[in-house]
Amino acid sequence: MKSFRRLLLTLLCALPIPGYSWADQGHTAMWEVAQSLLTPQARQRVDAALAGDKLDMTAVWLDRVRDVGKNEGPLVGDAEAADFIKAFPLHFTWHYVNMPLDVKSYQDATGFTTRDDIVQQINLCIAVLEGKSTQLDARTALRVLVHLVGDIHQPMHCASGFYDVTDPRHPVLRTDPESCLPLKKEKLEDRGANQLFFGPEKYDQMHALWDFELVKQLVGIRNLAKLLQDALPKIDTTTPGDHHTWAEHWAGESVALAKAAYVG
Ligand SMILES: [Zn+2]
Repeated sequence: MKSFRRLLLTLLCALPIPGYSWADQGHTAMWEVAQSLLTPQARQRVDAALAGDKLDMTAVWLDRVRDVGKNEGPLVGDAEAADFIKAFPLHFTWHYVNMPLDVKSYQDATGFTTRDDIVQQINLCIAVLEGKSTQLDARTALRVLVHLVGDIHQPMHCASGFYDVTDPRHPVLRTDPESCLPLKKEKLEDRGANQLFFGPEKYDQMHALWDFELVKQLVGIRNLAKLLQDALPKIDTTTPGDHHTWAEHWAGESVALAKAAYVG
């Protein structure tokens, strides 16, 4: 079994990855469903903002911009992406907010939230699209908004495990904001479960479980957008309150889901 897993890993690493991943599949499917819900008037404004865009990249543009830092992907050499990176050097932190598992809300997470976190950037995009900010152009704001509304619903994009390593052989997961704050200063966190590994050989990364594995297990060879579309009438998709408060509401929902995911 062990050698089979190694062989599988080696094969996967050797395969040419066609600029497509399960994470891309999640973002693209959400964007497809969102477009199907637009009113004709909204559709017109979206089309105007995205005129001339490579539409298959809209939902994942922000991830592809991040790839440029590794000198990878289709946006290497792209002037618009280069300008964006120059203007927003902290863009790679826009995808998440690392809150302790027991915060009651985004507002309760002082010391863990930043001006460049996912909630602030969703709100910035909304402000741009409402004509209240010119920090981004409308096309970039729409792309970033579409992407981040996907990311914020992935629980591991809103939470982090913080660890007391007084006994390094038995790290203890801390969840209340007060005891997590000094651990954050010492960087004793798993960064949205990116540094949390499980499974018999500790190959399985918890963040990736949510980005890729669960989607793969849920969907198999079926079409994720179609699956979501079919589920829509059966689930309550409304968010309470004014849309300017939705991002923090979603972040609060995600951290609660993340807490359940850390059990065990
Ligand atoms: Zn992202």
